[in-house]
Amino acid sequence: MRQIDHFIVGDSPAPARKHKVWNPSTGEVQAEVALGDAALLDRAVEAAKKVQPGWAATNPQKRARVMFKFKELVEANMQSLAELLSSEHGKVVDDAKGDVQRGLEVIEYACGIPQILKGEYTQGAGPGIDVYSMRQPLGIGAGITPFNFPAMIPMWMFGMAIAAGNAFILKPSERDPSVPVRLAELFLEAGAPEGLLQVVHGDKEMVDAIIEHPDIPAISFVGSSDIAHYIYSNGNARSKRVQAFGGAKNHGIVMPDADLDQVVNDLAGAAFGSAGERCMALPVVVPVGEETAERLREKLIPAIHALRIGVSSDPDANYGPVVTPEHKARIEQWVDVAEEEGAEIVIDGRGFSLQGHEDGFFVGPTLIDRVTPQMKSYQEEIFGPVLQIVRAKDFEEALRLPSEHQYGNGVALFTRNGHVAREFTQRVNVGMVGINVPIPVPVAYHSFGGWKRSGFGDIDQYGTEGLAFWTKKKKVTQRWPDGGGDGSNAFVIPTMG
Ligand code: NAD
Repeated sequence: MRQIDHFIVGDSPAPARKHKVWNPSTGEVQAEVALGDAALLDRAVEAAKKVQPGWAATNPQKRARVMFKFKELVEANMQSLAELLSSEHGKVVDDAKGDVQRGLEVIEYACGIPQILKGEYTQGAGPGIDVYSMRQPLGIGAGITPFNFPAMIPMWMFGMAIAAGNAFILKPSERDPSVPVRLAELFLEAGAPEGLLQVVHGDKEMVDAIIEHPDIPAISFVGSSDIAHYIYSNGNARSKRVQAFGGAKNHGIVMPDADLDQVVNDLAGAAFGSAGERCMALPVVVPVGEETAERLREKLIPAIHALRIGVSSDPDANYGPVVTPEHKARIEQWVDVAEEEGAEIVIDGRGFSLQGHEDGFFVGPTLIDRVTPQMKSYQEEIFGPVLQIVRAKDFEEALRLPSEHQYGNGVALFTRNGHVAREFTQRVNVGMVGINVPIPVPVAYHSFGGWKRSGFGDIDQYGTEGLAFWTKKKKVTQRWPDGGGDGSNAFVIPTMG
């Protein structure tokens, strides 16, 4: 059995506990990952403390060179990284490449650290007085990441944190931990000093150790909302800086004037791609008006029947298995709930079995119509290949659905009407909006973050927001008197006159 160890300085101790890592396509356990504890974290923190001051003192151009080299190494290893990722997660290999690539784009942004780290400067803010600001690293940052993007989300975090001068400790998901370790190996190969990026595996025990560790001042978390809130509130109670991104239930609003062929094409990928295990998936479609609903449903049904489900290495598959047997069972239970609540199961993916891979964790594509906002299956995240139709009578009703939902990660509007799009963008109570774009994950030089129970804290991931999260800003007011005395005193609060 393949053993997956921590990536820390020195040898890892024999683990007291382990967690099994599945191959979701075959239903077999393919590896075991060590689960660490507070003592192991302590060792990682001590190693990080040794290396971080020297890294922070390394000029930003040299830090950027490590990022450039890392980018080259990840690109050179793209195929093997994607295959490894897909074998543990279950997403198809091309989609796994996208997972790596979207993380790499933040590394590309971080290559510009000499430029983006420059502070502000005002010469002559008062007589002989200059004011400037600088951004300094926090020390050691920690990242706690979900299973569904095991390459992208770690890179979003450590790319920005490390480029800004911090050391970083990553606690990836125990369900697909191999790619994060591989990334840390490549980072070392790229010239990073040992101990700058370490990977500690674990579950709640390790997460609690991170929250409680006095030498970790900042935590970035991505995962489900209850755990996001737990980490946010407990981290804050210990005066840490925390950003914690949670679950999602993104809506796609379809106006009567939308190009329905385009919508169906976009929806098929956004609802069923990666078996619906994306925080920016579109699991709810809201056609506006009965006629739009009927036309959309008519086009959706054959498109969904045409989807090909396959093992994650099948190049022709649209999507692969879900991550674990427990997750497959949970998704199917949600379809049961929807049925009990009175929704119409139009296409039923429960009990799906892939010939030759009967033990794999496959869920067939599922379409559910006549879902209402009162239904539990609408209110909660299903995180599987399940598309729900909620019919709205008009634009206002459609706008209210995502705006009033507990989650506020992403939303998409499909229309040809610029005025309606503008109105929607202004008023919708959701963090990331797509106009005729089904998965509006902003590019690396903007920033990523949802609202409401999709995001706790007020600083986004990556871009200038990521830089702000991983640094503290020092403001300097200086004067260099000529020795003659300028008559100033501080008995009265100084003003710039
Ligand atoms: P999860 O919450 O189960 O796990 C996330 C991390 O928390 C993992 O590292 C895990 O080890 C740790 N963890 C698990 N249980 C814990 C506990 N009781 N206490 C402390 N830590 C614990 O999430 P997941 O299933 O890996 O990922 C899917 C979820 O993540 C979905 O809800 C999805 O919407 C969300 N997600 C959100 C975003 C976003 O940007 N908002 C992005 C990706 C995924």
